[in-house]
Amino acid sequence: MLLIRSLRSGIRPPAPHSAFSTSAAVVQAERTIREGPRKDWSREEIKSVYDSPILDLLFHGAQVHRHVHKFREVQQCTLLSIKTGGCSENCSYCPQSSRYDTGLKAQKMMNKDAVLQAAKKAKEAGSTRFCMGAAWRDTVGRKTNFNQILEYVKEIRSMGMEVCCTLGMLEKQQAMELKKAGLTAYNHNLDTSREYYPNIITTRSYDERLETLQYVREAGISVCSGGIIGLGEAEEDRVGLLHTLATLPTHPESVPINALVAVKGTPLQDQKPVEIWEMIRMIATARIVMPRAMVRLSAGRVRFSMPEQALCFLAGANSIFTGEKLLTTPNNDFDADQLMFKILGLTPKAPSFSEEAKACELERCEEAVSSSG
Ligand code: SF4
Repeated sequence: MLLIRSLRSGIRPPAPHSAFSTSAAVVQAERTIREGPRKDWSREEIKSVYDSPILDLLFHGAQVHRHVHKFREVQQCTLLSIKTGGCSENCSYCPQSSRYDTGLKAQKMMNKDAVLQAAKKAKEAGSTRFCMGAAWRDTVGRKTNFNQILEYVKEIRSMGMEVCCTLGMLEKQQAMELKKAGLTAYNHNLDTSREYYPNIITTRSYDERLETLQYVREAGISVCSGGIIGLGEAEEDRVGLLHTLATLPTHPESVPINALVAVKGTPLQDQKPVEIWEMIRMIATARIVMPRAMVRLSAGRVRFSMPEQALCFLAGANSIFTGEKLLTTPNNDFDADQLMFKILGLTPKAPSFSEEAKACELERCEEAVSSSG
């Protein structure tokens, strides 16, 4: 009776506790916590999580985050462009494409001393992962440069840092060589949904991107793959991107969520800036559907205030890029990040091969025990 009267008057009655369990964010977050990561997500399921009321999504993203991760730990990665500009591809958001007049000067690949110096500086500033980016379509026919990069990978790994590369498309053999050199992760973003992708890039296909991810995975390298929002895509495309990632045979270990930084001279120069709510929606959905992934609050972070970033961490982000620049666009100030860690009570995440090392140690121990037995 109370219910009927309240509905007629347009006022919702106080909801009994179970009524809070009606949004998909609640249902799916509880399922994720109960059953662990799933790879059989339907697009509709992800869409219903994504469409949940924002505070529900934020709260349940936080719950999954706290269940699976040490929620105060945030990974700090430094991204260095070791070969800038002059790229033959036509990614509409990218100032490094040679097809757009953005005023960016193409540069040759950085030498070893300069790269190692930058890695050392990043380590001293608290970064545990060093990522090297080169503006190439792929590494085919770049034997000399590729061998140099293998050398950089070995050196940086020996400094006690995780090493990541983003060099465009890879062949199977190259992925294996990078693994042998000690590469921790390879970044290759899908950018957006399969359907919207041709609006953004036409010089390589979505399937070629997925093939590179497969080679990386088969080589035993961690996969880092996410996308960009604010490219003019519909919300359905954001759901499509998350659906592709969440239904890969293995979820990516890292999922960067980027907000477009619109650069003058690129075809997307006039896109309107992404709002914080859009970021939170993406991050929390990614957290619920790929619970173990490191969800990275990536490009565009520079535009968000500390309280806004705090909401992203609460929603489930646990990785950031630090350093003056993100390839060619500005990034957050080092001191501001230090202060943010202090105020929010965040702690830097240690490199994860220390866990690998612990596992190896354990394995060695077990071997020793079994051989002595
Ligand atoms: S995003 Fe990468 S592949 Fe695309 S134009 Fe820029 S540097 Fe080239």
